[in-house]
Amino acid sequence: MRKKLLAANWKMYKTIPEMKDFIGTFLPLINGASDRDVVLGMPFTALATAAAMLQGTGVGLAAENLYPEEKGAFTGEISPVMLTDVGCTYVIVGHSERRQYFGETDEFINRKAKAALSHRLTPIVCVGERLEERERNRTMQVLETQVAGSLAGLDAAAASAVVIAYEPVWAIGTGKVATPQQAQEAHAFIRSQFARHYGAAAAASVRILYGGSVKPDNVREIMAQPDVDGGLVGGAALDPHSFSKIVWYDR
Ligand code: PEP
Repeated sequence: MRKKLLAANWKMYKTIPEMKDFIGTFLPLINGASDRDVVLGMPFTALATAAAMLQGTGVGLAAENLYPEEKGAFTGEISPVMLTDVGCTYVIVGHSERRQYFGETDEFINRKAKAALSHRLTPIVCVGERLEERERNRTMQVLETQVAGSLAGLDAAAASAVVIAYEPVWAIGTGKVATPQQAQEAHAFIRSQFARHYGAAAAASVRILYGGSVKPDNVREIMAQPDVDGGLVGGAALDPHSFSKIVWYDR
């Protein structure tokens, strides 16, 4: 049985005081939600203070990026060692904004996923098609290439320890949510790829999140799809009341 996972991606939002306000309000709102995993993904600058606030709460902490080396002359970059040092347990890799604005390739994302896994960080690997790719019926091809490329070289145990986030690029921050059927179709396809490459057990255990304009009023029907194991939430996770409603999608 896959445990549901609701993860926030704050992107480049929230100073330390704003993060403190959020967590102070949010924690009491999700009290008792221990049958699901909750993760807060935030900018590097807020991680250390957030880690102290989240200690013992069961809420996971995610960075939004890493550099796939332990240390070295990589000015401005942050290593997986530094992320575990500061208290992270997850890291988002391959978000479409990083693919689009920073030219990240599947090969580079693969190095990041491997670096995360080798430092006991769970990578949340983002994949998803652009609008023109969907319109040209290339969605499944794009997903196949991105999943295979991002996970290249992993064995079944490592691949199933990864969290996949299916995020159609046309749905991110646009208010255009994929229909539950579109989400289910993509998730089932990704799971079938896992079955083909890593076997039935890995396919049954890997968690696949949906991301793209998830809101309190649409989360329930997306979460009702059999291959949707959770959500990666941007805009609606910036407000503690809104994100807590998403965490409690089934109430
Ligand atoms: C995201 O940033 O991963 C995301 C899904 O954003 P939003 O929920 O705002 O579409």
